[in-house]
Amino acid sequence: MHKISKLAVLTSGGDAPGMNPCIRSVVRTAIYNGLEVVGIRRGYQGLIEDDMYVMEARSVSNILNLGGTILKTARCLPFRTDEGMETSYQNLKKRGVDALVVIGGDGTFTGALRFSQKYPDIAVMGVPGTIDNDLYGSTYTLGFDTATNTVIEAIDKIRDTADAHDRLFFIEVMGRDSGAIALRAGISCGAEAILLPEKEMAIENLIENLKAGQYNKKSSSIVIVAEGDKHGGAYDIAKLVQKEVKFYDVKVTILGHLQRGGSPSAFDRVLGSRLGFAAVNALISGKSQMMVGLQANYIKLTSIEEALNQHEFKLEEDLMQMAEILSI
Ligand code: ATP
Repeated sequence: MHKISKLAVLTSGGDAPGMNPCIRSVVRTAIYNGLEVVGIRRGYQGLIEDDMYVMEARSVSNILNLGGTILKTARCLPFRTDEGMETSYQNLKKRGVDALVVIGGDGTFTGALRFSQKYPDIAVMGVPGTIDNDLYGSTYTLGFDTATNTVIEAIDKIRDTADAHDRLFFIEVMGRDSGAIALRAGISCGAEAILLPEKEMAIENLIENLKAGQYNKKSSSIVIVAEGDKHGGAYDIAKLVQKEVKFYDVKVTILGHLQRGGSPSAFDRVLGSRLGFAAVNALISGKSQMMVGLQANYIKLTSIEEALNQHEFKLEEDLMQMAEILSI
């Protein structure tokens, strides 16, 4: 069994609340087990540029409550090239690093798997850190809960003004390929309709729904649009609907990047701590090319390959149906 002695950790891709609790957990679990730890700044960019520093238990003090990531994150094109990977490998070897924890989404995992297949003497463990909740092998990804709560808080406020003015709001939330945030937020806020990339809703049906709502004396309506919906963004859909729905004043809100920030929820703090702890323990026990994830409230390992191949978010039809019924 390949025994590790020095571990590096990075965050990559879009930032997600809960990354900091996870970094803290990785660093302290590793130190507790006698490993040395190196933090890599700006994801794979820092790996290529050798932008790393030694981390101690105190390097991660008072970060549990912070959004973003103290290691910073980046999208890094050169890491996709053979040269970029070779430079990264040499930088790790030079420092004696023999294990790597990557916290990120599917792009991060794709890079990690390629790297580890090329250089199997560096053990790699993935932590699903993305607000999109679109990785197979973990019921919830790090940051999804906080982001959804942020969205809910914003929509509750919009509902107040929508109600006061008899308005129809189209609210666009994050999710280019995944409607996970839109669906959970839609259920939580009683949205009259939820438009997702995974399921196309005909505009005529949407208009019928809204008319039925008005007939049933609804004083306001909220339609949540995931940014990856096939009709285009919330503005495009609002334009299509406005012509037919005269009884409401139509407004659009794009929630944008406020969805990524903020202090992680209790759920994400605990999840980040558990995933980081499990990632280090899996590396110590000789595992590599795996992802730690939450399944039925237990931490389980899935191969990165499987997590990527099955990664498509499966639309939860039952939740979709329930949301429709509960919003009559
Ligand atoms: P999120 O979904 O939250 O945005 P992500 O990890 O999917 O997170 P990406 O920007 O897709 O974010 O990927 C992060 C980084 O992973 C990329 O900037 C790149 O450095 C690396 N990466 C992605 N795909 C590959 C690949 N095919 N080969 C090597 N590296 C890759």
